[in-house]
Amino acid sequence: MADNNYKLDTKLIHAGVVPDPTTGAIMTPIYQTSTYVQAAPGDHKGYEYARTQNPTRTVLQNALAAIENGTHGLSFGSGMAATDAVMKLLQPGDEVIVSNDLYGGTYRIMTKVFANYGIKFHFIDMQNAQNVSNFINANTKMIWIETPTNPLLNVIDIEACAKIAKANNLLLICDNTFASPYLQTPLDLGADIVLHSATKYLGGHSDVVHGALIVKDAALDEKLRFIQNSCGAVPGPHDCWLVLRGIKTLHVRMQRHCENGEAVAKYLRNHPKVGKVLWVGFEDHPNHAIAKKQMRGFGGMISFTLKDDSMDAALSVLKKTQLFALAESLGGVESLIGHPASMTHGSIPREERIKNGLVDSLIRLSVGIEDISDLIKDLEQAIG
Ligand SMILES: *Cc1c(COP(=O)(O)O)cnc(C)c1O
Repeated sequence: MADNNYKLDTKLIHAGVVPDPTTGAIMTPIYQTSTYVQAAPGDHKGYEYARTQNPTRTVLQNALAAIENGTHGLSFGSGMAATDAVMKLLQPGDEVIVSNDLYGGTYRIMTKVFANYGIKFHFIDMQNAQNVSNFINANTKMIWIETPTNPLLNVIDIEACAKIAKANNLLLICDNTFASPYLQTPLDLGADIVLHSATKYLGGHSDVVHGALIVKDAALDEKLRFIQNSCGAVPGPHDCWLVLRGIKTLHVRMQRHCENGEAVAKYLRNHPKVGKVLWVGFEDHPNHAIAKKQMRGFGGMISFTLKDDSMDAALSVLKKTQLFALAESLGGVESLIGHPASMTHGSIPREERIKNGLVDSLIRLSVGIEDISDLIKDLEQAIG
C-alpha cells in the first residue's frame, strides 16, 4: 500500500504489513532464522544473514518509518542500543548539546561511555530554545532533545531547535518515547532523527525491550545501518513481532492514556498533601503554549511532589499503592509509579538533580488504561 496516503490510525494497523507471500498469513510471521539459502553466491531474495536483515524486522521498520512520517526505520535491541548507534556518528573532539532533563540512561551513556571517547556533552536548559545557540562552536555536531522531558515534563520547542540545527549544519535528534507518534511527529517539525525506546508506548504491553530510529534522509539511514550492522545491536524477530503487534493499538491506547492522565492530574492538583503537579496539559504549565503547538494531546505521564518534600514521604506513598505498580519503565497498559531520585535517575548526582528540579519527593506516574475511578481510589488511599 502507499503508506503515506493514509491517516495515522490506519497506518498503525497496515503500514509495512503485507500478507505472507507463501501462505497468505495476514499477520507477519516470526522469521526465526539466522541465515538464508542462496541459489548461487549473491543470488538471493534480499536476505543474506540475519544480523543484516530479517523479514519480520523489515516489516516493523517500514511500519515505524510510516507512522513517524519518515522514509527509513531501524529497529534495535533496546532504546539504548539505538542511542549508542547515533552516538557512533560522532568522532573524538565533537560536541553535543543536550537537554538537561533527560532519561537517566541517556545521561549515563553520554557521561560514562562516550565522554571517554573524547566527545563533549553540554547539558543545558532548553525551555528557551534560543539558549542552544550560546553553546554552539566549530566542534558542535548535534543537538539532542527529549520532549516532554523525563521526569520533569518540560516541553522543548522542536521546530525552534530544528531551525538552529539547520542554520548551523547540526543534526537534531529527538527522543520521542514519551509522546509517541500519536501525540507528535518531530520529523514533520524539522528533526533529523527520531529515537524511541519502543519498550514503552510503541510496544505498550510491558513485554518487550526494543529501540528504534526513524529518519527521512537516505544517506543518514545508510550511515546508521552501517553502524548497526557493524556493531550488531539488532533485535530478535520475536521482539520485532511484539512491537509490530503493539503498534496496531497505539491510537486507542494513547487516547485512553490521555483521558486517564488528565483525570489523574486534575485529581492530584486538588489534593491537600500534594505540592506541584507536572502535566503538560495544564494551561499554567510553563511550556503549555509550545505543547499546544507541537502536540496533539498531553499523554499519561505525570510527576508530582509532596508538600512534605522528603524521600520518606514519597516512599510511603510508593509502598501503599496497589494498582499503580512500583516499577521502572512507562507506557504500558498497566499503571506504574516510580521515584526518579532513587530509581531511574539514581545515577545523576543529587546536587545536579535538585538544581534541575528533580527533588526528593518527586513521584512519577505512568497512568495506564484501567478504569479511572479505580486508579483514583488507589491514589486516594496511598496519599492519605
Ligand atoms: C526507557 C527510555 C530509554 C531507553 O530505552 P531502553 O529500551 O530501556 O533501552 C530512552 N529514552 C527514554 C525517554 C526512555 O524512557
